[in-house]
Amino acid sequence: MNARIVLATRNPGKLREFRALLGSHTESGPLHSSKALGELDLEHAVIDAATAGCAEIPETGTTFTENSLLKARAVAAETGLPAVADDSGLAVDVLGGAPGIFSARWAGAQASDENNLRLLLEQLADIAPEHRGAAFVCVAALVIPESPEAPAKEFTTTGTLRGSLLFAPQGAGGFGYDPILQPSGQTRSAAELSMEEKNAISHRGEAFAALRPHILEALTR
Ligand code: IMP
Repeated sequence: MNARIVLATRNPGKLREFRALLGSHTESGPLHSSKALGELDLEHAVIDAATAGCAEIPETGTTFTENSLLKARAVAAETGLPAVADDSGLAVDVLGGAPGIFSARWAGAQASDENNLRLLLEQLADIAPEHRGAAFVCVAALVIPESPEAPAKEFTTTGTLRGSLLFAPQGAGGFGYDPILQPSGQTRSAAELSMEEKNAISHRGEAFAALRPHILEALTR
């Protein structure tokens, strides 16, 4: 089998996580494995945008869905291969879903993760614990280009990791806003969970898992 798919990212961590998720075998749910995938060499079949020689794509959309679709569409158009992209961020209830698509640049275009989360904590300093609900949100998009046998197809799926915002950062793991989000049902921040623990409940994992059947179809059609 010679099927290939491009992940629209330049982040090697995301590529590893995505390959692991595609190759994972569970007994139930959307991760249920297919025989066809067992025959695929994921290192060869799943490549990133840089390896595919794609140009960097500016995120000019106004929603996670628009941004994930515009990245996947651009990579699919450039390579002629099925492309997967994701866009994610933190949505805070009392801020009406902000920082949202501005999560990576909440404190300015060049802001660090630390700058962003410090600004958010300052903005929410007077908000009581029961009103500090928030969620990491991820939209994953798959664009399958048109072929002689079939028209183009697009799919998007959403994953969320709900929790509550702490008053001060906790933990040294993870990235972004992980040190200030305590996932629901946990006693630790997302930055205090192991990578396996976080991946098992994460918004990205959920969105990619929901996309998995469509990805398998794209790889095996
Ligand atoms: P992107 O989807 O990789 O562009 O992520 C956008 C921004 O959302 C990141 O820079 C983080 O600030 C935030 N974010 C997305 N996912 C997570 C997460 O799992 N933990 C912490 N922050 C996240």
